[in-house]
Amino acid sequence: MTRRARRRSDRHQGGHGQRGGGLAGWLLPDAVVRLRDGEWTVRPLSGAAAVKVYRCPGCDHEINPGTPHLVVWPPDEVADRRHWHRPCWERRCRAARLPPYAD
Ligand SMILES: [Zn+2]
Repeated sequence: MTRRARRRSDRHQGGHGQRGGGLAGWLLPDAVVRLRDGEWTVRPLSGAAAVKVYRCPGCDHEINPGTPHLVVWPPDEVADRRHWHRPCWERRCRAARLPPYAD
């Protein structure tokens, strides 16, 4: 549980596939987006991997288990990650006039 990820941890990793960490259920490699308030790492979480109730900071409503959504955190603060409804995150990104996902 003490996975340290001070920096983007995919530098030593050639491509897709298994990551060394214990966070199961990630669908894609990290994407980092830049918004007005800084950089954010964004990962989609599958419904199957969403086993807890989270509160979306975008709408202040709950994300029920089994709902595919996004996990977002500052790249150097993985312990501070937040769970967002996908539409809420997209709205936030649109408000910043930036695309919701990095290429
Ligand atoms: Zn929401």
